[in-house]
Amino acid sequence: MAKGLSHNPRMSTPNPQTTTSTADPLESVPDRLCTWCKVPMRKRLVGGQAFIHYTCPKCVFQHATKCQPA
Ligand SMILES: [Zn+2]
Repeated sequence: MAKGLSHNPRMSTPNPQTTTSTADPLESVPDRLCTWCKVPMRKRLVGGQAFIHYTCPKCVFQHATKCQPA
């Protein structure tokens, strides 16, 4: 007999994050290596996705470049 079905310890975690965007514009953004650390920098679109804002996770060096429409 299966008991405790109403109290399931393995809850099916409802994802609180709203990942609605299927086509992430950042996917088309080219990676950029930090000038000094040579590690991939974090990418962020700013200015209404007109600029790409790079941030190095190690030295926090920041670099912004204009988004070039392909
Ligand atoms: Zn760096």
